[in-house]
Amino acid sequence: MKAVIFEKPGLDNLKVEDSAEKPILTDRAVLIRVRTVGVNPIDYFAVSGAREVKPLPHIPGAEISGTIEKLGDHVKEGNLKEGDKVVIHNKVFDGTCDMCLDGLDMLCRNGGLIGIVTNGGFAEYISVPDKNVFKIPDDMSWDLAASLPVTTLTSFHALKDASLQVNESLLVYGASGNTGMMAIQFAKKMGAKVIAVSKNEWVKDFGADYILKDYGKVVEQVKEITQGKMADVVLNSVGIEAWQSSFDSVGVNGRLVTFGGLTGADVKLNIQSLYLKQMKLIGSTGGTRKQLKDLLNISNELKIRVWKRFKLEKTKEALQALFAKGREGRILIDVDTS
Ligand SMILES: [Zn+2]
Repeated sequence: MKAVIFEKPGLDNLKVEDSAEKPILTDRAVLIRVRTVGVNPIDYFAVSGAREVKPLPHIPGAEISGTIEKLGDHVKEGNLKEGDKVVIHNKVFDGTCDMCLDGLDMLCRNGGLIGIVTNGGFAEYISVPDKNVFKIPDDMSWDLAASLPVTTLTSFHALKDASLQVNESLLVYGASGNTGMMAIQFAKKMGAKVIAVSKNEWVKDFGADYILKDYGKVVEQVKEITQGKMADVVLNSVGIEAWQSSFDSVGVNGRLVTFGGLTGADVKLNIQSLYLKQMKLIGSTGGTRKQLKDLLNISNELKIRVWKRFKLEKTKEALQALFAKGREGRILIDVDTS
């Protein structure tokens, strides 16, 4: 099969192979013909060496959609059948540790991520355990499907962790990025007022009530919009570049949530400001199988904006595009276009 593989870390070491070994289908696994894959920072970190991967040589790719090619002999879960359109929950988990028993499979003590601790989806086929496979509606677009398991689930889970309430205000950094545009839509469904930090006017189409275009003026503009209260919840998936202004934009009893640090992760923190405002600083990662199932039920109402799409052969360019200054929406890889 065709696959993108690297033996040593580094973007320049990515190779497209035409005769990579097709994955083995075990009894409780599902072989999936990959259709469209989302490109996320996690894939870049896998290739760059910032995240240790296995096996080596390695196929990256964490956000995968496709169709079922073949079921393992003992697959019972979810009434899956050949030809079904599916997405892959990208968590490897044992189902037996204390975290898994609490329903927190993304925190499994013996787990990891598909595409990091196993081969991923930048390939024609992938084989994954049946418990990771979720059927999607036949009429769902591949663009949206390839945006559910990482992009959508991460923002959904983060807002739930932040306990966003009706009438509260949410400030979203990176609002025209992957998770940002999904966070806006969920926040509106939850009844919140959304202030989006983005240079792009189109984030209004996703439901943002206010758009702040100037990073340098975010704090004063949030103050004005909220009449001095500041934001109840702030999502900063951008990292250090927006750290101080995101911190200063949180109101009393507010929550600052982070699940990404693309611009850098080593931030400074003033403890006094944290406790005097009784702020909660929340780290959030991925989401649970249950949450993925929940959001599949409402996902047909979600919008997605694709900025660039690439063929598998151009994976390197797709990963580089993650850092483009003028990025406006998702980057996808179409593996199978038949
Ligand atoms: Zn576990």
